Order: sequence, then C-alpha cells, then structure tokens
Amino acid sequence: MKLAPNFDHSEFTKTAWDKLDQRTQIELQAMANLLQVIRTEVGKPIVISSGVRSLADYKRLQSQGLNPSPTSDHFYGTKVPCQSGSAAFKKYGVTYNIAVGAVDIVCPSMDAVAFYNLIAKMRYAGKIKTGQLLLEKNKTMWVHIANFMDPFLSPSDKTLRGDWSLNGMGYSLDNGKTWTKLDQTKKEYLPKNLK
Ligand SMILES: [Zn+2]
Repeated sequence: MKLAPNFDHSEFTKTAWDKLDQRTQIELQAMANLLQVIRTEVGKPIVISSGVRSLADYKRLQSQGLNPSPTSDHFYGTKVPCQSGSAAFKKYGVTYNIAVGAVDIVCPSMDAVAFYNLIAKMRYAGKIKTGQLLLEKNKTMWVHIANFMDPFLSPSDKTLRGDWSLNGMGYSLDNGKTWTKLDQTKKEYLPKNLK
C-alpha cells in the first residue's frame, strides 16, 4: 500500500498494514509524509534500512542474548516490556509505549554526512518538523530520523522523555555508545569530514 508517492508501507515493515495497530499506522503515515518532503527536496531515491520494530523483533534480539532498548522510537507506540530493575524500568515502569516512530535512512547517491546536513538545513529553515535527528555508524553510516512529537505525546510524556530524546541532533561514531550533540540554537551542522 502506498503511503506517499515514493514510499510504500512494505518499505517500513513486513507486517501487513491491517495487522498493525492504529497508533502504529498513524505514526507510520506521518513518517511517510515527512520522508516524502525530504525525498522531493533531495530529488533522489531514499532507502529505509530500518523501519518499524515489532515486539517479536525485540524478543528475538533478547533471545539472542542481546540487550535491545525498549525505548526506541522504532517501536511506533507498541507497548514494549521494560526489564525489571533496568534504567528504563525505573524511569518508565513495566512497559514503554511512548515511541513517536523513527526510521534509519540512507540516500545511496549521497554521502551520509551531506544527507544529514541537508535534512538539518530543512529543519532549521522550518521546511520540516522532526524528532530526534541522528547520524549513526556501525561500519556504515546512516541517518536516524524520528517524527515530531506533538501529535503523539502528552505534556507529561514529553517531560518524561526529555529534550534530547525528543528533539536532539547529533552523531555517534561508535554505534551509539557516545554522542556528540549539535547546538541547535547556533544552527550547527555535522563536520563534513566525519568518518
Ligand atoms: Zn534508528
């Protein structure tokens, strides 16, 4: 099913549209709309390398001995159990269900840093509203972009999540272990020579 002229729902998830819960559908449509504005500006194909994460994905990663975050925006509002005693449990309780929706994207014909900076420029200029906008790296680099929070979160949810989780811009070159934050008040961009 087409969600926007250049984006089909199957690019975001293998789960059939009518099997997704309503909250996920609404967040996914918002994400497709956001990506379409970027796609039109860039004028080149954008590839979604990671879209909707399901509860099954989360449990599969856990069963493999990994430690997936229950608080990722890739969960699109799905209720994810927080492990008892974990930091997420202490902050959010038994389940986390305030994800606003996010994707990891690349533009194959563009350098990831230039692609990120182009999206940042659109955001600074008010052409788009986004949530967290990150450059991440694990061998290759990609852009993580989340939906703007307002349609999805109550004021108390916003306070709970905090500014970095909702709005932050920055990058990590060590697969999310450490972050360098951009100062949005100075309209900062990524250094062009990041590797
Ligand atoms: Zn991501």
